Amino acid sequence: MAEHFDAIVVGAGPSGNTAAYLLAKAGMKVLQLERGEYPGSKNVQGAILYAEALEEVIPNCRRSAPLERAVIEQRMWLMDDHSHVGSHFRAEAGKDEQPTRYTVVRANLDKWFSKKVQDAGALLVCETTVLDLLKEGDRVVGVRTDRANGEIRADVVVLADGVNSLVATRAGLRPPVQAQDVALAVKEMHFLPRATIEERFNIQGDHGVVIEMFGKITRGMVGTGFLYTNKESISLGVGCMVSDFKASRLTPYQLLEDMKAHPSVRQLIAGSEVKEYSAHLIPEGGYNAIPVVHGEGWVICGDSGGFVNAVHREGSNLAMTTGRLAAETLIALRDAGKDFSAANLRRYRQALEQSFVMKDLKKYRDVPQILHGNRQFLTTYPELLSRAAHTLLKVDGVDKRSKERQIQRDFVEKRSRLGLFGDAIKLIRAFR
Ligand code: FAD
Repeated sequence: MAEHFDAIVVGAGPSGNTAAYLLAKAGMKVLQLERGEYPGSKNVQGAILYAEALEEVIPNCRRSAPLERAVIEQRMWLMDDHSHVGSHFRAEAGKDEQPTRYTVVRANLDKWFSKKVQDAGALLVCETTVLDLLKEGDRVVGVRTDRANGEIRADVVVLADGVNSLVATRAGLRPPVQAQDVALAVKEMHFLPRATIEERFNIQGDHGVVIEMFGKITRGMVGTGFLYTNKESISLGVGCMVSDFKASRLTPYQLLEDMKAHPSVRQLIAGSEVKEYSAHLIPEGGYNAIPVVHGEGWVICGDSGGFVNAVHREGSNLAMTTGRLAAETLIALRDAGKDFSAANLRRYRQALEQSFVMKDLKKYRDVPQILHGNRQFLTTYPELLSRAAHTLLKVDGVDKRSKERQIQRDFVEKRSRLGLFGDAIKLIRAFR
């Protein structure tokens, strides 16, 4: 391939598809390279789609996108070994509103998105792995692929190759991803008849329920579990930081098995048939782990740049938004007759800073460090809260004030007054 492209996009996940779609739509000659057999074949997600981010790129996307269920109820469970303390938020979209969150199956969504990219004029080549970047001095001028004569040149390369970010790392554009900045998640798809799902979760039609789980299911490791309802299946998964798995010697598979046996989860998946099992990394280092995001002739988007808000379980929307901001920057430079130098591409960083992406990541920048250093939030507090609920709800002839004193004593015994005060300050600092 001796052809020259305006832009090469590496990867056909949400960030790469967004960038390739917008660049092609703006009339640029775009080559998109994907190592999988087809877009989505290598991708894993829970998966909740945050529709607004997609709508910004493809208006009226809800009409044709392969959506599973509109999320009308979110449950948050703080898990003890045999119980959970939880909260619920349930609301259907109003008459003139559209739902903002949907469960999706990534393989279907990526294929659908990719068709839009190709219809917009981008050339997609699958089963092609980008091995390295071509450079002239500091400037990136194309890519080297695993195909024969696989060097291809372009004015700019958009790196959207996902969490491992191997292309940028090999080219020395970013440091390797560290074990303490990345979570390993495993996920199973449990198939059940549609009517059974709707009955178990008290939903109808295309409405869905999602459950986020924290606490003792991760055995003191920093991580979370999830359960999402699709039309005829339930996505169930758990993930923890790789550094914690290394230190604990626990396996993700063990955690998932324990989670499936937990009394709060067991009944919800009873009788299901497991048809898919997958594992994937998630960049959860937050703001402090974000690398340099642009340079001479290149930009980085999505998981490859570490753009995941682990606190709110958001990733694909940040991927699409960073892909969009990168594309908009490139289009604006092209329209102004400017080149893709590092100095000009600084606009991408500025656009990121002004968007919710960096604002949110900055807000939670201390969360990873605080959770790593304070395992009591994942072990002691779920246990204490569960015990408090038991104490308070048990009707046993003990007066309520005595029960409150008992709960206070339990907390002080486990954490001391100073410890409780310190933990409250840490939580306020982490989430303020
Ligand atoms: P990816 O989707 O990883 O796409 C990268 C693409 O690049 C892949 O198709 C890959 O095959 C290709 N590629 C990689 N290397 C090369 C190469 N060298 N050459 C060519 N192609 C290459 N986010 C949410 O918003 N909601 C959720 O509910 C949610 N749940 C999640 C649950 C799990 C278990 C996991 C693992 C993640 C979850 N995420 C969720 C995060 C979300 O999946 C990611 O943030 C999102 O997929 C990032 O998109 P991306 O395009 O940057 O990367």
